[in-house]
Amino acid sequence: MLENILYYFVLFGFGLTIGSFVNCLVWRTYNNISVAAGRSRCVHCGRFLSWYENVPVFSYIFLKGKCRMCQKPIPAHYPAVELFGGLIFLAVGWFNKNYSVFSEWHLVRDLVFVSILAIVFLYDLLYQIILTKLILFGSVVGVVFNIFIFHQDVYKMLIGVAIGSGFFLLQYLISRGRWIGGGDIRLGLMMGVWLGWPNILAALFFAYMLGLIVSIPLLIFKNKQWDSTIPFGTFLAAGTFWALYCSDSAIEWYLGLLG
Ligand SMILES: [Zn+2]
Repeated sequence: MLENILYYFVLFGFGLTIGSFVNCLVWRTYNNISVAAGRSRCVHCGRFLSWYENVPVFSYIFLKGKCRMCQKPIPAHYPAVELFGGLIFLAVGWFNKNYSVFSEWHLVRDLVFVSILAIVFLYDLLYQIILTKLILFGSVVGVVFNIFIFHQDVYKMLIGVAIGSGFFLLQYLISRGRWIGGGDIRLGLMMGVWLGWPNILAALFFAYMLGLIVSIPLLIFKNKQWDSTIPFGTFLAAGTFWALYCSDSAIEWYLGLLG
């Protein structure tokens, strides 16, 4: 019991910290500042933040959402991403404890995976860009874990990669780059490495369903077009998370319907 509480407490705290790091990395990368550039600053006045202004979630509440010096609002997505980080780490911890195939190494892999997904999710949502270096890093990490540590089937991974990247490459060629960008093709490749066959299908399906549900009101009421201004990487990141844990039972359910 105590062990369980400690396990989830540590994961939650770790997730809050990673959420804070994701905010920092996204902001600094977009503004061409080195991620290792020392202490955090206010995004408005540039003042260095004290340690007590830098505690995930709590500082935002304590400072009532404003910079102590310039009184300008701290962007609301900061505490949201931190809290989201904590909750998603709790979810990963729960899945790893309750599925017998999982091990400590699965927990490490999945925490790395969801941290990368959180960056993809936020960056594409804020700036409509999928970072190439991040995707390459994620793909290499995926090969190391899935092939060298877990000895998964190489052919299933290759089929996953062919479907993940081929699906977007095809759309890219048909639309001459109007519907999606090159970033989606690379993200599809990373998803293929992580998920393999047949889970890649579940991730794509879930991402498109989510994309439709969210985008239809935008298309109708805001007169948007279905093109690269819709942050599709955000939906793909959500679909990948879903497929990591839930696709086995969903595929079984679907095959059950057919048979
Ligand atoms: Zn300030």
